[in-house]
Order: sequence, then C-alpha cells, then structure tokens
Amino acid sequence: MSALRELYQEVILDHNKSPRNFRRMEDASQTTEGNNPLCGDHYTVYLKVEGDVIRDISFEGAGCAISKASASLMSGVVKGKTRADAVALFEQFHKLVTGEFTSVAQLNGLGKLAAFAGVSDYPARVKCAILAWHTLRAALESRKEPVTTE
Ligand code: ZN
Repeated sequence: MSALRELYQEVILDHNKSPRNFRRMEDASQTTEGNNPLCGDHYTVYLKVEGDVIRDISFEGAGCAISKASASLMSGVVKGKTRADAVALFEQFHKLVTGEFTSVAQLNGLGKLAAFAGVSDYPARVKCAILAWHTLRAALESRKEPVTTE
C-alpha cells in the first residue's frame, strides 16, 4: 500500500502545483462560491451547463493542497458528464473520503479520484477534500448563496 500512497501523494502534489481548469469563466451559466472556514479554503466554481450536460467547468480561489488538488481533479472528471453522473460521482467521492470504501475494486472505479483515499485517515481534512464537490452540487442546483462546510 505504501507505493500506492506515494503515487496518490504525487497526484495531489501535481494538481496542487498545476491546477487544471484554474481560471475565471466570464460566460458561466452558474457561479457558486464555497468556503471551508475550518481550514480557510475558499473557491468559486464556474459551470457552463447546456441541457443536462456540463460543457465546461473551471474554478478559482485559494486553499490548502488537498482542497486545491480536489477541485482540480473534480473539474477534469465531471467535464462532459451529465448532472446526474456528476452527482453520482460526488456520492462515490464522499464515501471514499469518509472511509466507506474498503475494497481495491471500489477504488479502481474512481480512477485518479482514488488519490484521496488516504484523506479518510485525517477527519479534519475531509472537509478540504469535499469542499469543491459541495460547491459543484450547489451550482448544479442553481443555488445562489455561498456554500459552507460548517
Ligand atoms: Zn483545507
């Protein structure tokens, strides 16, 4: 498991250093802010939704490595997905970071998101990992008020 953990660590460091889809979107169909006051993470998630499909997603903001890498990976994974698929992925990711997944097969189904499996050992970091996803879900529901993990 330690080689796997190192690989996971690498994925998180890479996405923290070079976050994907890290930009403001001027013509977003939905913009939602998310805050994790416990750690000081704050991000804005921009969506361009056409019909039922997330055509484009981007984010900007600042926070710890876990929160930024999570937002970066999320943006890559949900782009091109339907709203329902994105919400289903959120539920899977939530199970992952809260330690509800126990088998390697379940981890494999999540692709690079599995990099966050180790977060379940650190309850204080779960909110960091989940912040972008909460914000995404609120954006998909067209909620206007900022999201907070508290
Ligand atoms: Zn954080």
